[in-house]
Amino acid sequence: MPRPFREPKLVIASHNAGKVREIAELLAPFGTDVAAAGSLGLPEPEETGETFLDNALIKARAAATGAGLPALADDSGLAVHALGGEPGVHTARLAGPQRDFGLAMRTVEERLAGKADRTAHFVCALALCWPDGHCETFEGTVYGTLVWPPRGDNGFGFDPMFMADGHAITFGEMEPAAKHAISHRANAFRKLVAACFGPG
Ligand code: IMP
Repeated sequence: MPRPFREPKLVIASHNAGKVREIAELLAPFGTDVAAAGSLGLPEPEETGETFLDNALIKARAAATGAGLPALADDSGLAVHALGGEPGVHTARLAGPQRDFGLAMRTVEERLAGKADRTAHFVCALALCWPDGHCETFEGTVYGTLVWPPRGDNGFGFDPMFMADGHAITFGEMEPAAKHAISHRANAFRKLVAACFGPG
């Protein structure tokens, strides 16, 4: 049985402003008071895991211990099929220390040069950890195609070059609510909500 979430406050264990915003939006219906790890002065742990789930657990455990509150972490990334699933868990590194997503998108586009297969998927691993060390984890994906040049100013990261299957606009062109209906993060959230935020 997953542990139900009954606490009034939750730390969002991320220093990525785009992610913090999306997670806060996805949590809004549950009336939980949320605080971002950065605003609590929590340090950003090194992501040394080899999988999205490992890294989500590292971040959620560090924040839960540091704040003495339950913490929710998201580790996510883009797997490009013609690149053997890269950049995968290393997606954030492509943006460099300045978090320059334009640079990150150009780098992927350069690596894709001359390749006919432009399909990719986003992965989102969520870890919800309590200060006593108990954790629950969930994963979500969304499949699509990479377009060039990038389109749209909404979202963050690779959104302007990612067009989900069955859609004619990129995540960067979608309203937040439309992205939240289909994204990897929203899919992982649906599992989290069913497991931990249900009635009880
Ligand atoms: P990390 O989980 O902090 O290691 O970073 C994940 C990276 O994957 C982000 O910095 C983005 O570049 C990318 N990414 C993850 N989720 C999304 C998304 O919803 N849209 C666009 N890019 C994303």
